Amino acid sequence: MQLDNERIVVCGAGGFIGGHLVTHLRSQGYNVIRAVDVKPMDEWYQHEDASKVDNLVLDLKDLASCRQVADGATVIFNLAADMGGMGFIENNKALCMLSVLINTHLLMAAKDASVKRMFYASSACVYNGDKQKTPDVVALKEEDAYPALPEDGYGWEKLFSERMCRHFEEDYGLQSRVARYHNVYGPLGTWTGGREKAPAAICRKVLEAKMSGKHEIDIWGDGKQTRSFMYIDDCVKGTQMILQSEIHEPINLGSNELVTIDQLVDIVEEIAGIKLKRHYQLDAPKGVNGRNSDNTKILEYLDWEPSIRLRDGMALTYKWIESQMLADAHR
Ligand code: NAD
Repeated sequence: MQLDNERIVVCGAGGFIGGHLVTHLRSQGYNVIRAVDVKPMDEWYQHEDASKVDNLVLDLKDLASCRQVADGATVIFNLAADMGGMGFIENNKALCMLSVLINTHLLMAAKDASVKRMFYASSACVYNGDKQKTPDVVALKEEDAYPALPEDGYGWEKLFSERMCRHFEEDYGLQSRVARYHNVYGPLGTWTGGREKAPAAICRKVLEAKMSGKHEIDIWGDGKQTRSFMYIDDCVKGTQMILQSEIHEPINLGSNELVTIDQLVDIVEEIAGIKLKRHYQLDAPKGVNGRNSDNTKILEYLDWEPSIRLRDGMALTYKWIESQMLADAHR
């Protein structure tokens, strides 16, 4: 599918990935007709000028809002969800599951408005927890989502919504594409307030230690959990490629550069030019012990995989969070 003549809507456009996606599509001259988020406009991380994109503040849990959004659209990217890092999703399971209303109502509205194609942002949290018990992981293949034992709350919602996309395609012919994102990070995202994820939280904590002169850091878990992290530019590029592809089943979109949380802290310390005393908080939410993305399938389909090195992406993220903290300090 080419996007030249499509009328594109991005849901969750006030958020981290949605905001970057609008910018990425607009930079190629594509016709993003609407950008939608429930947050007031002054809380959007970025937005296009109103003369170019219709920025709408709407609650997409409501079917009527979804109908308004789908009207006249041919492609819809759904990146709207109530979500955050482990600290948020472990303590807000019901809220995370309520995002099911967003995707369900968007699918219903898209079907009735004869939208050609939907994109759904799923997550590595759909994978069976039994396959992620040790830090010494075997990278997750797409089939490892079943038998189902996803992350409680958030992961169940993602797995159900993936399934809903599949059945709308099979039963009603509404095409959908589903990517399972693995930990996305970068500038212009959540870095404080309780919803931030590990890369942003670690940058902020290292910066706080540097600025205060108290050279200590609290780390959730024992530091040995393993993860991979995908830089935002790879994420929006892969999202667009998957939307335009003929990949009809959910597919991993993640980096396979595996690190421990301790190694992630090492990287940020090196960027900051300091060494901190580490305090491990063993009771804090830490998620699964190990997780990595098996990229065999995306390489087969697209001859491409996320490749931006963690050290490079973290340097850019650190710099942006530093600028935010300095701006806050001068307010
Ligand atoms: P984000 O929180 O920055 O953005 C999500 C946006 O959705 C927010 O701006 C929020 O206000 C909006 N939203 C929530 N409820 C809404 C509603 N009822 N109506 C309209 N808008 C609503 O998160 P993100 O990191 O940009 O994530 C985007 C998508 O990718 C989400 O579906 C998320 O679950 C998925 N995902 C993200 C990651 C990651 O590492 N960031 C990993 C896996 C999956």
